[in-house]
Amino acid sequence: MADDFPTLSRSVEDYLKVIYGLSEKGAAAATSQIADSLDVQPASVSGMIKRLAESGYVEHAPYHGVRLSPEGTREALRIIRRHRILETYLSQRLSYSWDDVHDEAERLEHAASDELIDRMARALNDPRHDPHGAPIPTREGSVEVADDLTLAEVGPGERVQIRAVRDNDPDRLRYLKARGLLPGVILSVDSRAPFNGPITIRLGGPGGSAQAIGHEIATRIRVAGVQEHRTDP
Ligand SMILES: [Zn+2]
Repeated sequence: MADDFPTLSRSVEDYLKVIYGLSEKGAAAATSQIADSLDVQPASVSGMIKRLAESGYVEHAPYHGVRLSPEGTREALRIIRRHRILETYLSQRLSYSWDDVHDEAERLEHAASDELIDRMARALNDPRHDPHGAPIPTREGSVEVADDLTLAEVGPGERVQIRAVRDNDPDRLRYLKARGLLPGVILSVDSRAPFNGPITIRLGGPGGSAQAIGHEIATRIRVAGVQEHRTDP
């Protein structure tokens, strides 16, 4: 049972976190996706999945992928909470830029105790989102479910607000920041080229200056629709 891992090893924590991310939208995670995300061979993923299943952290049906059990979900959210609190603390208190926090948090998340994380969270007034806009799971293990879509799915003429950027790559994060594409920013979509071509957007809405961004990077930007507030009758 779960007692096999009284304190979870670093690799178990990484697996649970990756499986959570891959199955967040409800689909089971495929072994090949897990292998890609962790940059390991599929054969070693199969071995680990078997161990995780024996320990009660995942449910695995051959050829149908892997899902976290309630116990596995609880542990995954604990690790994600540690990661996102660390990123927020590094950003807000230690002046790390948003493209620098991820790698540091990847290292620290396995070492930080829940006590340290709780103290950091309190010092930050229990933040709800990390510097990339991702929701931070609560101490009790609940997390806000995003009902957002990606910028690549937004049609011309629509006005949206950036909720989160799902990317850890420092170069792409710097690129987005340099273009003002940060959580909280409102923009409108002017046009979308066919066949996954570039998307023309205006920051701040129709009056802003136009800029084109690629389809691939737009799939990493999570947005939500903005209600129009008309003042005229
Ligand atoms: Zn991160």
